[in-house]
Amino acid sequence: MATDKRKLTKRQKEIILYVVLAIIVIAFAIWYYYKYYYVVESINTPIILEVEDNTSGDSETVDVDGILQVHMIDCGQADSFLFEQNGEYGLIDCGTRSTGKDVVKYLQDEGVKELQFVVGTHPHDDHMGGMYDVLNTFACNIVYMPDIEDGLVTTNWYMQLMQKISKDKIKLVNPKVDDEFHLGEAIFKVVGQLTPEEAGSNINNYSTVIKVSFGTMDLLMTGDAETRVETKMLETNEDELQCEILKLGHHGSNTSTSDSFLKAVDPDYGLISCEVGNKYQHPSTETVKKLKKFKIKIYRTDETGSVVLTISNDDVTFDKKAGDYKDGITVANSVIKTGGLSWN
Ligand SMILES: [Zn+2]
Repeated sequence: MATDKRKLTKRQKEIILYVVLAIIVIAFAIWYYYKYYYVVESINTPIILEVEDNTSGDSETVDVDGILQVHMIDCGQADSFLFEQNGEYGLIDCGTRSTGKDVVKYLQDEGVKELQFVVGTHPHDDHMGGMYDVLNTFACNIVYMPDIEDGLVTTNWYMQLMQKISKDKIKLVNPKVDDEFHLGEAIFKVVGQLTPEEAGSNINNYSTVIKVSFGTMDLLMTGDAETRVETKMLETNEDELQCEILKLGHHGSNTSTSDSFLKAVDPDYGLISCEVGNKYQHPSTETVKKLKKFKIKIYRTDETGSVVLTISNDDVTFDKKAGDYKDGITVANSVIKTGGLSWN
């Protein structure tokens, strides 16, 4: 009996050992499962959200309430566009070093206190010269500007601007095609951005091209992108280019707005920011003829000053009358005749 008892005890010990081993194995399996599960969950969740975001921005339109206001600010032979949605503001381009102050005043008059973003489409004075004054006046969350090869732009104002962005610790992002950012319910998507290798030495071709979508309405902001950028966009993402409103590239110069690009965008309205009597004679005869041929209504700062667009889910209204299909020389001459300008 004593032997049986010992044998039984041994078996019991074995059983206990097996049970303990089984518990350890199960516990390890549970620990491993949960560890693995939570790691996967934490990695995948933001990625899934990002994919969903891009999908909605790419091909679907989401109905929106409210309005998106776009101000084409009269800042001479330069660009500056203010966007407002649901009390938030963003700016694409900032006028020149000398008209940056006018842009600042315009924003102050509109009640702007801070900017969600400022985009500098490319580092020419007529787009980014006024950015220093803008960043000096308004809090700004993020600045977008293209990646420029070292040594290509060495102007003093550009160096000072870059120093300011660095010193003030403003987040700086070089846009890439398909990048998206938002202003309220408006979606800003980068649809054109050449690399430094592709752009070469022509600074205009560094221009970041942004499609602004609000409900069913789209506006294409082109900076001074010339035909090389347009051709690249036609090759890579032609399907995305259709927009109701086109901000004409390079102030209506004939270096932009190729026939094939205009057909792909197929806009109802065109925006031209230029100065009366500008030495480049923008907009060009060729460009205004194309706009007339395609019956695209044009709004231009040289004829009416600043223009405000009010965009709703499926419509746009303008606070000024549409302009004439006159080239830069004709507009300047008509103003000279009325004594408003001395041509130089
Ligand atoms: Zn320009």
